[in-house]
Amino acid sequence: LRGVVALDGPSGTGKTTVARKLAAKLGASYLDTGAMYRIVTLAVLRAGVDPADSAAVATVARKVELTVGTTPHRPLARLGDDDVGVDIRTDRVTAAVSAVSAVPEVRRLLVARQREIIAGELAGGGGIVVEGRDIGTVVAPDAGLKVFLTADPAVRAARRGAQDSAAGRAAAPETVRASVDRRDRLDSTRAASPLRPAEDAVEVDTSELTIDQVLVALCELASR
Ligand code: C5P
Repeated sequence: LRGVVALDGPSGTGKTTVARKLAAKLGASYLDTGAMYRIVTLAVLRAGVDPADSAAVATVARKVELTVGTTPHRPLARLGDDDVGVDIRTDRVTAAVSAVSAVPEVRRLLVARQREIIAGELAGGGGIVVEGRDIGTVVAPDAGLKVFLTADPAVRAARRGAQDSAAGRAAAPETVRASVDRRDRLDSTRAASPLRPAEDAVEVDTSELTIDQVLVALCELASR
């Protein structure tokens, strides 16, 4: 693959698994922009800052030293020298990430960083699969392929629940559903780059598809 594949959509659509597998299959790099918002959120929580305090959140974001890898097999996430791959997936971070990512200054800083990473990969003549919420609309509006993954809310909550139990964090189905619904509502209604498909994105409903079926569909789109 050469160029950018933008993969957007809400949580529980299979986005991360699909993005990593697609990148590996196409011999491309991979960027998880959600991990970057999660690292800033972890820094905010570690600093004892209220995620709802936009000014204080922006101050933390300006100082944060974050690193994300672009290898699809083992994406690295660092805050300073700390490997935070596990810490950024806790319920505490997940509950606070929408508030942090709604702060315009946080988005400005991270979008600039994301564009730098993408430009670096493209400069080497390669391709990159970038997953997030605003890749096709804001980060890489010129992407060669834009895909917006969707799935029925009940299906998305069930998938998130299965992922949580696999990670040893089983929660009641209604709790998981409420948390998924809340995050989607916050991400879709914020003023700064709300979650929405780009006009030229191909929408793929994954409700009744396995990961492999989604992958086949995307490989076919990428080869056009
Ligand atoms: O994809 P993931 O669930 O890790 O994303 C975590 C959160 O980061 C999302 O719920 C959203 O609030 C934010 N995000 C964003 N823009 C992106 C990627 C993630 O606002 N491009």
